[in-house]
Amino acid sequence: MEVDEEQERVARDPPKIYRLDESVVNRIAAGEVIQRPVSAVKELVENSLDAGSSSINVTVKDGGLKLIQVSDNGHGIRYKDLPILCERHTTSKLSTFEDLQSIKSMGFRGEALASMTYVGHVTVTTITEGQLHGYRVSYKDGVMEHEPRACAAVKGTQIMVENLFYNMTARRKTLQNAADDYSKIIDLLSRFAIHHINVSFSCRKHGAGRADVHSVATDARLNAIRSVYGVSVAHNLLEVEASDDDLSSSVFQMSGLISNCNFVAKKTTMVLFINDRLVDWTALKRALEIVYSATLPKASKPFIYMSIIVPAEHVDVNVHPTKREVSLLNQEIIIEKIQSVVESKLRSSNEARTYDEQMAEPSPSAQNNLLKDSNLSQSPSGGSKPQKVPVNKMVRTDATDPAGRLHAYLQNKPVDHLGTDSSLTAVRSSIRQRRKPKETADLTSIQELIDEIDCNCHSGLLEVVRHCTYIGMADDVFALLQHDTHLYLANVVNLSKELMYQQVLRRFAHFNAIQLSDPAPLQELIMLALKEEDLETECSGDHDLKEKIAEMNTELLKQKTEMLQEYFGIEIDMNGNLSRLPVVLDQYAPDMDHVPEFVLCLGNDVDWEDEKNCFQAISAALGNFYAMHPPMLPNPSGDGLQFYEKKKLPWHPEDEGNPAGKIGDVTMETEIDHELLSEAETAWAQREWSIQHVLIPAMRLFLKPPTFMATNGTFVQVASLEKLYKIFERC
Ligand code: ADP
Ligand code: MG
Repeated sequence: MEVDEEQERVARDPPKIYRLDESVVNRIAAGEVIQRPVSAVKELVENSLDAGSSSINVTVKDGGLKLIQVSDNGHGIRYKDLPILCERHTTSKLSTFEDLQSIKSMGFRGEALASMTYVGHVTVTTITEGQLHGYRVSYKDGVMEHEPRACAAVKGTQIMVENLFYNMTARRKTLQNAADDYSKIIDLLSRFAIHHINVSFSCRKHGAGRADVHSVATDARLNAIRSVYGVSVAHNLLEVEASDDDLSSSVFQMSGLISNCNFVAKKTTMVLFINDRLVDWTALKRALEIVYSATLPKASKPFIYMSIIVPAEHVDVNVHPTKREVSLLNQEIIIEKIQSVVESKLRSSNEARTYDEQMAEPSPSAQNNLLKDSNLSQSPSGGSKPQKVPVNKMVRTDATDPAGRLHAYLQNKPVDHLGTDSSLTAVRSSIRQRRKPKETADLTSIQELIDEIDCNCHSGLLEVVRHCTYIGMADDVFALLQHDTHLYLANVVNLSKELMYQQVLRRFAHFNAIQLSDPAPLQELIMLALKEEDLETECSGDHDLKEKIAEMNTELLKQKTEMLQEYFGIEIDMNGNLSRLPVVLDQYAPDMDHVPEFVLCLGNDVDWEDEKNCFQAISAALGNFYAMHPPMLPNPSGDGLQFYEKKKLPWHPEDEGNPAGKIGDVTMETEIDHELLSEAETAWAQREWSIQHVLIPAMRLFLKPPTFMATNGTFVQVASLEKLYKIFERC
């Protein structure tokens, strides 16, 4: 009995607080700084760079778990400093907090070496200028294991970390995949090598004769990129620069090299240095990916090298223990400026390229080059499968010209011999043509539709959309745009509808897919749409009739599946479920609330007889579906908030048992439906993000605004800034 009480008391009492043993604290902290072998390599290489080295060599065994060795030819470490070298918070780079403001070196926390001694065995060999011999000493848990021993040494420092995480079993287990970490280390050194071009780097596996990264000090960055990332990357780069010197907006200088429209890769490579520090800046990376995806008809991921210099006091390097993430003053403005420079650079290179290629005759050698190029960019496994050939490499990058596809060139040419890759492709594509005789005709009808867009383009509006700046949303439908000194209200629903329509035509037959997690039965979707129409017209039609319409439409669409999939990326499976949709603009998926309407429209409104009308109607249906409509839930930041208020009676304890009795003399209270409200907030925030970061950049690049937009209220000029200034002045 007593024992039970005692146990209960113990369970009820708060747990006792203990002071952690210092070695445990240090090991936990070390695990944060050195998360994986690659983080140790980064710290060591940065130390070598801080020491003014011009040559840095890295050797790795077992992905870094067995051994990491970094040798440099820097200034070395003084004999007297060796005893405290690996203690926590010992550094030669910082002494007061104010120094942080202007720190130029990469290290400053004095934590890296110490951390390594808590999770691995560290041995340092070093010699300073003018000494006859060097010293070698090993460290454990922050302290020297013995007095430094004299030894022969070459200029600089060599630091060896063995058996990393020997005392952290769980960490070691999760890091067993050595190949994975070695590739991370290679990736890291490649990045350093193309930024610090006056330093030569090498990285190899222990015992290997050949280095996997090998760069020689050079004064041309392109050379460094060529030797590290290869010719196919170096060949396809454009120089970019941007800067601002306005304290009220932003102060920065950016210079970089970015891939052009010929470059094809499956993954983005973004090598970014801010004030010479290798960092990640996800927001900038995403912003640039969007520009690229909007520029190329078929998504290719970019290669981007950028170096950004900002005043040291504008960077907070201290936000992350590994200094990997930075936070900058005025980051939004900097991102926008860089985004717009990249955008115009790509646009002009794209235009130049289209011109070049239109001039060129499709000679066999030109095809050979094209094919060589596309082979280069393929993964080895995809080499022989025709569907894996990156189609965008075979397309003229001018998105408005689908007739520029390679097989369109080839179809007029006699197929002479089978000896080369190019003639093999020619045969393949001519077989494809025979199997699908419609394809040739498709191209003309699509081409006609695209020509109509071009002819109908309003040149004044084109100027506005190409060079406008997004200011913000004025209400649920209108965005405020600035062009020169003019302000416009632009209807984003109309704009996005038109843009999507145009993009569908441009990407015709070349769509990436959005896979629906739950395939949706067409028949049910059509029923839903018919019922929705009833709600709108406030009459309820005959249920059986609706069922009949839904069934007929489903049957019709099932017959069209092959065409819908091939040309528009709309996939309907054998059971009549919608399973895939096309990517019309990268980084953007349509609001699925509009699926029923879309399917009904496909089934009901498309004239399947006339090819051109048919393609136009399907493209328009997709355009309407993908347009950035306001979300179904009312906007909570305006009057819409009322929608989320639930009327509720106030509750008084004394009312219990008889709550209805008091209705007469109490007023109703309101309570917010938080779940619904937060769902709405997310939907609206996502839409606004897409408008700013997807719609507007893509619109600047691609939209050919039709003339009717000048008069149908899509664009309304609200005021010129001069007028506004005058009004303010008078006030
Ligand atoms: P931090 O780099 O933050 O100062 P570290 O723990 O990385 O801290 O290094 C501690 C100190 O050891 C450095 O400040 C530097 O003086 C010295 N050091 C480390 N590596 C080297 C090296 N390769 N060459 C010369 N000095 C080094
Ligand atoms: Mg350091």
